Amino acid sequence: MRGACGAKLLGLAAPQAYSAAMVHVGIGYDVHALLAGRKLILGGVDIPHAKGLDGHSDADVLMHAICDAILGALGEADIGRLFPNTDPRWRNAPSRIFLNEARRLAGVRQGKIVNVDATLIAQEPKIFPHIRQMKTNIAAALEMRVEQVGLKATTNEHLGFIGREEGIAAMAVAGVDLP
Ligand SMILES: [Zn+2]
Repeated sequence: MRGACGAKLLGLAAPQAYSAAMVHVGIGYDVHALLAGRKLILGGVDIPHAKGLDGHSDADVLMHAICDAILGALGEADIGRLFPNTDPRWRNAPSRIFLNEARRLAGVRQGKIVNVDATLIAQEPKIFPHIRQMKTNIAAALEMRVEQVGLKATTNEHLGFIGREEGIAAMAVAGVDLP
């Protein structure tokens, strides 16, 4: 732990010694309200349910959180800035196009998305039966292998707005290898 190498490990490297040749991680979080009369689209899967998520696009809270995690790893602005909800182009848009764009932005930087991992937090409906298809959809939108996509779901133990089935939230992390 001596010299430049040790100093770098301790986070003490001078700015010019910084190397971007490493995996950058990003975090994403999103929440949408549940409303009667809306489709419930999660991870690109249309899930039969009494309520769906409200939003300008298809309101796919899971894909939005993953998109923000990738954008975060790239140091880009968040999904709301890239795709304003005032823009009619994104009205009812399938959220895979946001993931396509995050993937494209990583490519512009010669970055490779190493993995994404996400947790959906929903009281209802049961998510588990749809996990495999969601992973497949997310991997396809990001041009990744399914094994690079982690996805879990949990309830909120009937606590708070998620527990009262007023909304669904998702959190995600992404690793992007930047040259
Ligand atoms: Zn969203």
